[in-house]
Amino acid sequence: MTRVLLLGGTGDALRIARQLGPAHVYSLAGLGKVPDDLACAVRVGGFGGTEGMARYIEDERIGLVIDATHPYAAQISANAARAARLASVPCWALRRQGWQPQAGDAWRMVGNWTEMMDALATFTRPLFTLGREPLAHLDEIAPHQFWTIRCLDPHEGHARARILATRGPFTLEGERALFDAQAFDVVVSKNSGGAATEAKLEVARERGLPVVMLRRPELPAVDREFGSVAELLEALRLTG
Ligand code: NAP
Repeated sequence: MTRVLLLGGTGDALRIARQLGPAHVYSLAGLGKVPDDLACAVRVGGFGGTEGMARYIEDERIGLVIDATHPYAAQISANAARAARLASVPCWALRRQGWQPQAGDAWRMVGNWTEMMDALATFTRPLFTLGREPLAHLDEIAPHQFWTIRCLDPHEGHARARILATRGPFTLEGERALFDAQAFDVVVSKNSGGAATEAKLEVARERGLPVVMLRRPELPAVDREFGSVAELLEALRLTG
């Protein structure tokens, strides 16, 4: 039997992990919740870069690496592809489709924080939904702006920002209520794809609000790519 190292930290990865037996390993960075109800082994924390992961693969006799990390977690994806190559085992990846703009959407694509700030310059009440990065820039909030930052990290708060430490999925009704209460004039997002956090885009569309979208990072080539959990699980079943 091929021993799997599954790299996770996403809802999709957890769905795969739930199908793995005790011989396999689910690996998490350690930033979020660590499940305690899985049949497979769970390890938490970094490997110490590419070489560390390659050593782990060899020491633990891993036969297949599956990268099911978030599409913006580019470092671990690059490490996984290289480490698997170094250890001469295949690397598969779950590459979730990004969202596509629909009729009436006003998306502005940006590549980094500076471009994002330029795109936001004329707005007053942005909703940030791209993780903790804005927390490092609270002292740079323009005088005409008030930021709402939704991320997993709790924070003591800030005079010019509201930090919502909440975890998806988010419903359409919940998002509508939030947008009504906070009168956002722009939404800032990663193009994560998937249904869990998509409702904000629908509400932005309903209200004619622009979206500043951070482009996806480049991800490495791997031996096999899958667009859905079901396809990946089917391939895994066929491998035995
Ligand atoms: P990253 O920048 O790609 O990775 C940074 C380092 O964290 C990696 O080099 C690795 O340390 C460690 N690491 C990341 N994922 C790991 C895993 N599954 N198992 C063991 N070590 C891991 O990652 P990130 O963007 O900070 O994201 C961290 C985790 O949160 C990822 O697992 C990702 O799936 C999840 N996540 C990320 C986002 C996002 O927007 N970036 C959103 C939702 C969930 P070593 O080099 O020491 O091995």
